[in-house]
Amino acid sequence: MKRSLLPILCCPVCKGDLVLAVTEEDEIEIITGILSCPACEVDYPIEDGIPDLLPRNPGQ
Ligand SMILES: [Zn+2]
Repeated sequence: MKRSLLPILCCPVCKGDLVLAVTEEDEIEIITGILSCPACEVDYPIEDGIPDLLPRNPGQ
């Protein structure tokens, strides 16, 4: 996903802002990383450049 997408992404549960932690990125986009919601204490993985923003329960 492109870094410029970050401001328009939000937590699917609480609609709050997500915190990005990049594991791997190239000059175009973030390939692997974590989007986390501090309010829900849930992490959403970014894999192969695709953020997985499906709602999930904490701890899963
Ligand atoms: Zn949330």
